[in-house]
Amino acid sequence: MLPNGLGRAGTITTPHGTIKTPAFVVVGTKATVKTLTPEQVSAAGAQAVLANAFHLYLQPGPDIVDEAGGLGRFMNWPGPSFTDSGGFQVMSLGVGFKKVLAMDVTGMQNDDVIAEGRQRDARVDEDGVTFKSPLDGSMHRFTAEISMGVQHQLGADIMFAFDELTTLMNTRGYQEESVERTQRWAQRCLDEHSRLTDARSGHPYQALFGVVQGAQYEDLRRQACQGLRATRSGVAGHEQEGFDGYGIGGAIEKRHLGDIVRWCAEELPDDRPRHLLGISEPDDLFAACAAGADTFDCVNPSRTARNAAIYTARGRYNVTTAANRRAFEPLEAGCDCYTCTHYTRAYLHHLFKAHEFLAKTLATIHNERFTIRLVDSIRHAMENGEFDALRTEFLGSFYGGAVPGRV
Ligand SMILES: [Zn+2]
Repeated sequence: MLPNGLGRAGTITTPHGTIKTPAFVVVGTKATVKTLTPEQVSAAGAQAVLANAFHLYLQPGPDIVDEAGGLGRFMNWPGPSFTDSGGFQVMSLGVGFKKVLAMDVTGMQNDDVIAEGRQRDARVDEDGVTFKSPLDGSMHRFTAEISMGVQHQLGADIMFAFDELTTLMNTRGYQEESVERTQRWAQRCLDEHSRLTDARSGHPYQALFGVVQGAQYEDLRRQACQGLRATRSGVAGHEQEGFDGYGIGGAIEKRHLGDIVRWCAEELPDDRPRHLLGISEPDDLFAACAAGADTFDCVNPSRTARNAAIYTARGRYNVTTAANRRAFEPLEAGCDCYTCTHYTRAYLHHLFKAHEFLAKTLATIHNERFTIRLVDSIRHAMENGEFDALRTEFLGSFYGGAVPGRV
């Protein structure tokens, strides 16, 4: 535990193994970490993977994953796994905004605003969300019960309750309604989860995390936490108070990230894990760990890798810049990943320029390893009372370092 009483190192136990926290969970949206085999994911040090209920619902269908023996069996990942509820992806169809915005939106709020060039392909009502499939344009519906059914069929160790994602563009009034609606959906998720746990009693127990909404408003975040932790299943034999853990969701303005996690950590029970959905930038990871978040997931390390952007302790650079054409050195000096111990920047520069598939694999291995190793080093620093020193040193180097080709 850090001196502030919030940041902490610990262990999450699942039917498929334990996760030492703080931990970075690698995203395998469609039951694959793009461009990597599970063995490569494991070799990068990943303790757990997170797949997406929405994408797997559309393709191949949760019944097929269930028949395969669940997500882990289907994708040959023997370790702990998570699925997110599909809420974020479904609602993103509605507006097309990113999760973390490095911008001030004060005075810009309007419930009808959508991202430029996007159509509104999802509609929220009290019962759920109707949306158009991005694959074939067919209409679908997600509700609390449907999300739970899908996630039980997918069979991950940790699932998330179906929540309404708002954006920072929504008005305060809409955020209030949304927190209340998400609370009603959380109750329905918990009830359905209890029923499905009984109905599928031959399967390993799947933990359910409630999701905290409330945008940048302290009172709404605290109210959402209090509501979730007091929720009890209406199904006999499932009287435990609250959820197995909690996800901190919703769009987050970067400058409020630490505060939002802290408000939640102060309200949520100490003995349950807290997952921060969708972050991986080093400053965000330090802020979130300091404030008491335990696990994180994000597509960014692999997405940026596929675009040739390489993370190092001295900042992020693009390996396709001319400076790297004859750089016969690792992507990052001292990195212990497979890519850095076998290949050079010059080789990756060539592979990207030649549009070779291997470029993406090798870059993804490094970026995932970088992020996993960063969070692991935060955990070790917490255990040894060196968190503040690591934070100052790492962030000074990452944001102030003179790396050639910085992006
Ligand atoms: Zn590396």
